[in-house]
Amino acid sequence: MQEYVTSAVSLRKYPQGDLDGRYTLFTERFGRMTGKAKSSRKITSKLAPHLEPGTVLRVRFIEAHGTQIIDALKEGMAGISIINLQFLSMLLPEGQPEPGIWRMIAERSFSWRAAFAVLGWDPEDALCASCGTRKGMHFYIPRQEFFCDTCIRKLPLKTRESAVISLHVSL
Ligand SMILES: [Zn+2]
Repeated sequence: MQEYVTSAVSLRKYPQGDLDGRYTLFTERFGRMTGKAKSSRKITSKLAPHLEPGTVLRVRFIEAHGTQIIDALKEGMAGISIINLQFLSMLLPEGQPEPGIWRMIAERSFSWRAAFAVLGWDPEDALCASCGTRKGMHFYIPRQEFFCDTCIRKLPLKTRESAVISLHVSL
């Protein structure tokens, strides 16, 4: 059976059944992929600590009844917050390598501004999709468009928190 090995960053984890886990990874060779790690939710799991979201790792997987993660080895942390990892998992295309994004993660230099340019939504030329002003610096993920300060505030707060990437937030 063919095995695949690649570097990756773990983006998200989901429970599956009682003991298994599913993980969405952004891999260097294959882009975004989701695989199952058997028994990863057992307290004795050797894989789980290496697959926590935010971890940069080497991963080994096979294709057998879906993608099965059979080995994982932590190499470090990506230094990207959990919410930004979730946004990345929403934006990255499935099964398509993105070398520009991978390089930023490997070099610990990830920024949304640069990532949007790589993915083809350059914020430098962005106009607000609603009113057309040149201050469209909030990316609304479900519509894949930028909105200005004023227009983005028309969305409910909960939606903004879960689906908007702001490029000039004052935290
Ligand atoms: Zn606007």
